Amino acid sequence: MAASVTVTHFEQLVVQQSPEQPVQRADLEAHLATRLTFYFLHNSVSVQRAIQECQEDVEIGWFEREAIVRNHMSNSRICILHIFTIVGKHCATMTVEALLNDAEVLIVGAGPSGLVLALCLAKLGVTFRIVEKSSGPGQASRAIAVQARILEFYRQLGFADEVVNGGLKMERLHLRKGSREIAVLQFGDFGKNLSAFPFVLSYPQDVHEKFLIEKLAAVGIEVEWNTELVDFADDGKRVRVTLRSQGAEEISEVAFLCGCDGAHSRVRQGLNLTFPGGTYEQRFFVADVEETGAPVKGDINICMGVDTFCLVFPIRSVKQDRLIGIVPKELADRENVTFDDIRAYVEKLAGVKVHKVNWFSTYHIHHRVAERFRVGRVFIAGDAGHVHSPVGGQGMNTGIGDAVNLAWKLAAVIQSRADASILDTYESERIAFARSLVATTDRLFQEIVGRGLGSYMFRNFVFPVLLPLALKFSSGRKAQFRLISQVRINYRQSALSEGIAGEIHGGDRLPWLGGPAGDNFEVLNSNDWQVHVYGEAQAAMRDIAANHEIPLHMFTWNAAARAAGLSKDAAYLVRPDGHVALADSKQDADSLECFLARFKIKARATRRSSK
Ligand SMILES: Cc1cc2nc3c(=O)[nH]c(=O)nc-3n(C[C@H](O)[C@H](O)[C@H](O)COP(=O)(O)OP(=O)(O)OC[C@H]3O[C@@H](n4cnc5c(N)ncnc54)[C@H](O)[C@@H]3O)c2cc1C
Repeated sequence: MAASVTVTHFEQLVVQQSPEQPVQRADLEAHLATRLTFYFLHNSVSVQRAIQECQEDVEIGWFEREAIVRNHMSNSRICILHIFTIVGKHCATMTVEALLNDAEVLIVGAGPSGLVLALCLAKLGVTFRIVEKSSGPGQASRAIAVQARILEFYRQLGFADEVVNGGLKMERLHLRKGSREIAVLQFGDFGKNLSAFPFVLSYPQDVHEKFLIEKLAAVGIEVEWNTELVDFADDGKRVRVTLRSQGAEEISEVAFLCGCDGAHSRVRQGLNLTFPGGTYEQRFFVADVEETGAPVKGDINICMGVDTFCLVFPIRSVKQDRLIGIVPKELADRENVTFDDIRAYVEKLAGVKVHKVNWFSTYHIHHRVAERFRVGRVFIAGDAGHVHSPVGGQGMNTGIGDAVNLAWKLAAVIQSRADASILDTYESERIAFARSLVATTDRLFQEIVGRGLGSYMFRNFVFPVLLPLALKFSSGRKAQFRLISQVRINYRQSALSEGIAGEIHGGDRLPWLGGPAGDNFEVLNSNDWQVHVYGEAQAAMRDIAANHEIPLHMFTWNAAARAAGLSKDAAYLVRPDGHVALADSKQDADSLECFLARFKIKARATRRSSK
């Protein structure tokens, strides 16, 4: 893939060099070609600061400043740049006329999926644009639940703690019939020892999106609001996109197009992909309200009726609650249903008195998965690829998971650090999970609202009796956590997954180990390939990792590692998203060598260290 800047003409070259190791212009050009360069816009104040900072700390300066420049550059094609580069131990600056290539990736849609894709690509040093047809961030709270696996990804991006501090941990679920409590499910820290985030977090989607937008702005990237993708064509080498912004059309080219444009995705439609599945007959309502009388403030309440329910749970603070339920049948076909139309029904079912309605909406729920997630250079992610019932709070989380999976693969291919075939694994890994999720949430949803014997048993026995009982046992709590938190997502069937060591298969999420012996997820912050050995690494394994400049991390072998299913002295090649690619109980250096060669994998560390 071409560098994002092609130098067409050198205006001036100033090299700070030492006599014993002179810097040649050819060296500088080579550095430009491999993009291991800092380039800054002429006369920019931030340039001068950045250069000073870069001289102090090369790597950090590069990531942060490159992003700033990229965004400014996106609309111009020729520009005079000051270039600052490191050659050996020497730095050089020069002024050049450069032809700016278009962004490598266009992200369509600034919902949670698009924003997380953008943040990941920014961290990985890929040039991109993110366009959104709305005029600003979403105002509706919509998805509330943020699952542990997403917080683990946010930890890799460096902001999980901020999200946790901004949300509310969900501690208990109360099952009620009218005013009578029939069961309490305790699931505060139900994922203890399984994740650094052993809970479900309540963090409204509007707050969440604003937070992600701020994080993007902090690395110099602005969402292009009021900008709509209207058309695109993939010629096999580039994707030609037509964007419309305030009446004006812009045609530009990118290497890859990512449709994170929601359930009515223009990208999915443009690819002529079917979206098979169905629509539930029930019409649902959602209301963010201030109320009194909710059975247990601060907790989740499910208030059951005959073939209906109302969920009551806190958002933002314990002063405001979210109500979700089914619009009564007699109103289901009426347009413009208001909260007042259903007030009496809701207040009776949920045992609340509503004083203020901050947001109310009704909607139909679909359960669908697109037939493909990738066609050529075009991808879809998030609701563009899959929609399902909100049971278990999985929708937004799955979209964010798509984005993380796609980002590192795109970055690796764009930066020539992996064979292009790894892009195929995005669809195979994520579509499999989306299909199983849609099937599971569909089954559960039918049990909750159905009228048959199975639903009756579920509502009256499984949910109020069996589930609370299961949660009294550690194994039951763990099973529930694994089901909801998305930590059990695995890619065992993926072409990128190989081997078994202990209970860990290639494709599994690396088990988390915390405690006094150290936290094995700390090192995942590099978002890079790495080898983990729990015990002692053999010399051959160290050599091969060193040859490929893949960091090898050794962790103390202990009871926690055994309990997590790891195998003593086995080698685990870990992907940038924290999933195990190769699990090798014998630490066979040849296996690792073959695996890396098969997919032409190079670590990001390689690219940085060759500066
Ligand atoms: C009432 C409700 C409650 C929900 N509750 C939960 C929950 O508890 N937990 C959960 O996980 N999920 C929940 N969801 C689902 C969750 O909101 C979605 O899964 C999530 O928003 C999907 O994110 P996304 O980024 O994929 O798509 P979206 O959030 O839909 O974002 C897509 C963006 O693309 C933009 N766009 C579309 N077309 C174009 C175009 N041509 N050009 C430019 N921009 C375009 C749109 O304006 C939009 O901003 C809920 C949804 C609803 C409606």
